[in-house]
Amino acid sequence: MRTLIVAPNWIGDAVMSQPLLALLRAQQAGAPIHALCPPHIAPVYRAMPEVDAVIESPNVHGKLDLAGRWRLARSLRAARYARAVVLPNSAKSALVPWLAGIPLRIGYRGEARRLMLNRMHEDRRQGAERPPMVDHYAALAFEPGRAPDGPVADPRLTIDPALAHAARERLALPAGAPLFALCPGAEFGPAKRWPARHFAGLADLLRAAWPEAEVVALGGPRDRPIGDEIAAQSRARVRNLCGDTTLAEAMALLSSAAGVASNDSGLMHVTAAFDRPMVALFGSSDPRHTPPRSRHARVEWLHLDCSPCFERECPLGHLDCLNRIEPARAMRALRAALAG
Ligand code: SF4
Repeated sequence: MRTLIVAPNWIGDAVMSQPLLALLRAQQAGAPIHALCPPHIAPVYRAMPEVDAVIESPNVHGKLDLAGRWRLARSLRAARYARAVVLPNSAKSALVPWLAGIPLRIGYRGEARRLMLNRMHEDRRQGAERPPMVDHYAALAFEPGRAPDGPVADPRLTIDPALAHAARERLALPAGAPLFALCPGAEFGPAKRWPARHFAGLADLLRAAWPEAEVVALGGPRDRPIGDEIAAQSRARVRNLCGDTTLAEAMALLSSAAGVASNDSGLMHVTAAFDRPMVALFGSSDPRHTPPRSRHARVEWLHLDCSPCFERECPLGHLDCLNRIEPARAMRALRAALAG
């Protein structure tokens, strides 16, 4: 049964969909799985062995662009998909599989999709009741209302080690030096970002413990100013690579990192999927819903009375949930992660 996955728009959500793909593959070994995704997510699906082809489309999300979606749907018809699994909740994301005439179209009820989906799942749980995102996606491999037998596996990505060598070479990072990566971005908003001064303090501790190490900040172009702040505030040398790497290169570097400190972000899920030692710093969000799924990850979450608030900016104006996680505490957690 040839399957089309309509991918989510966020890097972390894409990573958390991997166990679903593994379940689909296990149910029908040899049946091709293709991922339809925006270009900025494509490297994540290329790192999943279950995916046989990645189809990049700029209009999977965003504007309605009916003409573009119609053209895309027409081009997909030739592949004769037997089913589509639609991961985002928007009506727009369900449109293409419907227009492409894919006979079985699976997804959560979401917004106004009764016509476009014909195997509809429901999950009305809210707040702390919400299941882990990995389980939420994995349920789509089964009939509605049927839970997976046993625990769902953790997301795993694989990448050619040669890509990590090539990325280090291009960025003039010494091949033999341990690499510590700081991931200070979080697209959702500042209420998920550990302060730059704390990342800088952690960089100082890392360089004091491992003088031979390279410490880099990784992220997208929009994270560049935060990376600059960290580099300016740290007494140790921190190379700000935010915006200087492709996502594929950042993934390759994370796959070979000695240790990582990350906000709750897409790169946190990427690091966990490579099973690298990491401290994950949680502020306004909830690690019970989107934890880094790796035994080498340690979560720092203060779980204050006000958290999780799920706000983009701190409604109380103090951001205590992150300000009060001191660098020394993050360092202890990272050491524990390194010890396994
Ligand atoms: S209200 Fe509490 S949990 Fe929300 S951002 Fe502020 S300190 Fe953090």
